[in-house]
Order: sequence, then C-alpha cells, then structure tokens
Amino acid sequence: MSDDHVQLMNTRKNIALIAHDNRKLELLEWADFNKGTLEEHNLFGTGTTGGLITEKLGLKVHRYRSGPLGGDQQIGAGISEGKIDFMIFFWDPLQSQPHDVDVKALLRLSVLYNIPVACNRATADFLISSPLLNGKYERIIKDFQLPNAIGSQ
Ligand code: PGA
Repeated sequence: MSDDHVQLMNTRKNIALIAHDNRKLELLEWADFNKGTLEEHNLFGTGTTGGLITEKLGLKVHRYRSGPLGGDQQIGAGISEGKIDFMIFFWDPLQSQPHDVDVKALLRLSVLYNIPVACNRATADFLISSPLLNGKYERIIKDFQLPNAIGSQ
C-alpha cells in the first residue's frame, strides 16, 4: 500500500522566480510578457531577482535573501513546507556559481516535492499557459521511504 500523500495547490499559486545573473534579463522579459497572469498569484523571489521584478515591472514579490547568501535554501525550505508550489528558475548553464551546491539542493527538493519547475523560457511558457494553473491541483508527494521500509522487513 502506498503512503504517498497529496498537497493541495490552491487556485492562487505560490510562485518562486529566480534567475542567475546572465539570465535575469530573459526572466524579466518573460515576466513582463506574462505580467497579467503573474499578478493573479503570490510571487516569491531571491533577493536580486525579486527586487528587479518589482522595480522594473511593479509586481509585488516577497523577497528572500540573495541566492548566493542563502536565498535558494530559503526557497527550498519553502518548498519542503508546502509554502512554494511552483518555480521558474532560470539557472545559468554556462557558468558555475559560488552556490552551486544550493542550486542542486533546490532542484532536488523541487523533484522530491513534485512541484512544476521551468528552467528555460519554452518550459515556462508551457507551464504558465497550462489550464491547470488556474484551478486547484492535488500534487502527489511520493513516499520515498517505502522501498527502505519494505527492504528492512
Ligand atoms: P539573486 O539570486 O536573485 O539574488 O541574484 C539568484 C540565485 O543565484 O539563485
């Protein structure tokens, strides 16, 4: 029997927006294009990304610390607590970051907690235009403990 459980995502999603420096412009352009949709949700962001989105687009963003100073970890914690349920994360595929381990941890948690994640613009376009965005959604969170539990019997 499965011990998976369900996390309800409300109609108004809690969306995290993050971009590494070389991709901030791309995220800003994408957010500008989708401003009307983003306004209908609660927005969260790492420090610099969130600040830019508010400054340039006038969108209200709850800002965590800057990514290299712990912001990615704060967003990861938000995912694990069910407070962030959707993520647009334009990470840099051509340059390593001082906080690469945090980036990896954040992506790991997004898979573990089964949240929708876009790491490039095409995926972000598909996600934001999904009919599922504007309704409630029951996100299944797998119980990864189960195989161990069976193995130890
Ligand atoms: P920043 O952080 O928005 O503060 O630049 C992004 C990141 O590196 O994760």
